[in-house]
Amino acid sequence: MTSKRTSQRLRSTPVPGVRDSYTGVDFNLGFHVRHYDLELDYAVGPNRLRATATLRMDSYLELERLTLDLSGALQVKQVSVRMFSPATQVEVKRFSHRNLKLSVTFTTPIPADAEFELTITYQGNPRPVRSSWGMLGWEELSNGSLVASQPNGARSWYPCDDTPDEKATYRIAVTTASTYTVVANGHLRSAQRSGASTRWVYEMPQPMASYLATVQVGQYEKVELSDARTPVVAYVPRALKADFMEDFAQQVAMLDCYTELFGPYPFGIYTVVVTEDELEIPLEAAGLSIFGANHARGDHAWERLIAHELSHQWFGNSLGLAQWDDIWLNEGFACYAEWLWFEHSAGKPAAESAKEHYLGLAAKPQDLLLANPGPKDMFDDRVYKRGAMVVHALRTLLGDDAFFTMLRSYVASGKHSVVEPMDLRNAALQAGADPQALDTLWQSWLHQTKLPPFPGE
Ligand SMILES: [Zn+2]
Repeated sequence: MTSKRTSQRLRSTPVPGVRDSYTGVDFNLGFHVRHYDLELDYAVGPNRLRATATLRMDSYLELERLTLDLSGALQVKQVSVRMFSPATQVEVKRFSHRNLKLSVTFTTPIPADAEFELTITYQGNPRPVRSSWGMLGWEELSNGSLVASQPNGARSWYPCDDTPDEKATYRIAVTTASTYTVVANGHLRSAQRSGASTRWVYEMPQPMASYLATVQVGQYEKVELSDARTPVVAYVPRALKADFMEDFAQQVAMLDCYTELFGPYPFGIYTVVVTEDELEIPLEAAGLSIFGANHARGDHAWERLIAHELSHQWFGNSLGLAQWDDIWLNEGFACYAEWLWFEHSAGKPAAESAKEHYLGLAAKPQDLLLANPGPKDMFDDRVYKRGAMVVHALRTLLGDDAFFTMLRSYVASGKHSVVEPMDLRNAALQAGADPQALDTLWQSWLHQTKLPPFPGE
């Protein structure tokens, strides 16, 4: 169910001190978190958070101590451990919290292959963590808050293993003033009012990476766009509702289109949040996308981004990354999905979009290595466009029938796990790609900086 296969490949022979070469986050070694239960009490005005996080974990190494990622803006009050198996007596000897790491030492080591639960109470004024990509994580809005953590801002609001290749299920409960609406990943299970507050409980039964967990607080009106097998709901400021309905009129049709092309929608519900504030770019979370007021002006200006964000539910959120080096797998597919949407909705062949963007790439510096662009260029537009060109080159190589069959089988076998470029390459081979031609494609698009000829020319 979880990303055990790859997690184990990456982590079962850990080298202490090794860190993520993109985010600089030191790996937390020796365990997997299987479930996060987050109980948050949040006051919007003072931006005050009081929280208890209960992490269901298992160990793959003996653990005398363990570490988790947590922002220094939050103060840890208490940490306790409860063993499930084996039922040995272990307690927390001490904990310390510095340099964005919470370190917990036990009275006796937790053996390998144990199942246990760590409960952490903490509080503070959550704020985004600084990164080379700007501010990440929990952020105050002019009237509420949002969370957008890619790539490593999850630690801004809860203690976690802040790495893309570890996935867990979640229950997120948030209590706040009843004048606000709270939105989080997955299904809303209850919204119980008590006095002037309401406690909102969300459940995410599909495993997700820490950076894809989110909480949105604002004065939103709920809009149901579809109550079909995959419900589609939106939370929108009342003043933006008419413009939203105009711009997102195709949202359900997009979901149907991608379901046909990529296979079943991977989560139980798709939620869209439009904030009162403007946002530079829309943001992705598991089963949920966040747009700014500027993306819903009623002029259809951002239809491609509405499609792009939805497609991340397959590419990026269900099929996660083993390491950030492979970011093109997320963004290349999401960009190609935009072109596919216009192919289906407006009759504009993806090949035509590909050609336009190929010419755009040709006019830009050719010094980016798609297979490993480096942290500085991780979100460079060339990663998106050149990544989409790889997908287009595969389609050209395989032909439509084999390409779309390959796509569905690649998506199905990587579901709720993590993928690496070799998984896509193997899927293409299995779909009948000529090995030598595939090798040339791979080398020229991924492992050299020079722009190869346009596919098929
Ligand atoms: Zn994207």
